[in-house]
Amino acid sequence: MLEGRFDPESLGLGPGSCRAWRSEFSFELPELVAVHSDEDDWGATSKMVLRLSDGLEVESVCIPMGHGRYTLCVSSQVGCKMGCVFCETGRMGLLRQLTTDEIIAQLLVARHRLGWPIRNVVFMGMGEALDNFEHVLRAVRVLNDEAGLAMGQERLTICTVGHVEGIRLLAQQGLKRINLSISLNAANDSLRAELMPINRRTKLAELQAALIEYKPRRNFALGVNYCLLPGINDTLADAHAVAEFCEPLGRALVNLIPYNPGSMPLTRAPEESEIERFIGWLRAEGLPVRQRVTKGRSVMAACGQLGNPSARRERRTLPTVPV
Ligand code: SF4
Repeated sequence: MLEGRFDPESLGLGPGSCRAWRSEFSFELPELVAVHSDEDDWGATSKMVLRLSDGLEVESVCIPMGHGRYTLCVSSQVGCKMGCVFCETGRMGLLRQLTTDEIIAQLLVARHRLGWPIRNVVFMGMGEALDNFEHVLRAVRVLNDEAGLAMGQERLTICTVGHVEGIRLLAQQGLKRINLSISLNAANDSLRAELMPINRRTKLAELQAALIEYKPRRNFALGVNYCLLPGINDTLADAHAVAEFCEPLGRALVNLIPYNPGSMPLTRAPEESEIERFIGWLRAEGLPVRQRVTKGRSVMAACGQLGNPSARRERRTLPTVPV
């Protein structure tokens, strides 16, 4: 298992047991289709494309974090039904959920086939993690288990669009040290509903209430991701609304993500001066803010750029795997 594969013979099992294991389980990792890399001062940001057993493809991104540390951004679904308008995956629709093994396999391929020294895992690739709660939770348990990948919970982050039922379920799992971040992107209901259709069903007040209740530990700090879209959500009033939303949440850290135009851009990428101005407004409201450095944009590996919308059409020709 440590080398990314399970070999029953190496455990000294008899031939009958090995045959039984092999007839019941598959030990194959998904096919590695492509790796695209974008080098900058931080190191290489690399996107890998894996082909699953039913022919669908899934993408994961290895992100350099400095000091030789890397985070793997894993996918939890093929496509996504949330339809956020700034996101390439959202344009695919949901093709299917990933199974627990398909989620874990992304880390195994990254570490053992590609040799990437992954330290942290963030569920922020293709799909809404809490919309595939059962398999994501099992994957978290395997990643965390000493007999699995033995990764501390503090090295795992679940990112959600604001799936309130999922946040409440997560709170009941006893995962005290896992990290949670939400994609906010607008802190008034009408704009957020335009950008993120989930807000038509779940208003900000309901999301805020669920986040106020979510307190897995005393020093928990919620990540609040804000994708800055020039001309859309970057006014002083928008910054003020973000501060009002965060104020009752306890500790919150805003991750400001400059918009990465995809194949059908909503707007342009923000200028550095626009980013700094918005960060200044948030800080003036007393919010801690960190700017997410854009990595992997040229290989469509940056936030919001994963996925292949044409897969939605191709899906009709592929066999279906029940999940
Ligand atoms: S941003 Fe996340 S939740 Fe929204 S459509 Fe894209 S993958 Fe889905």
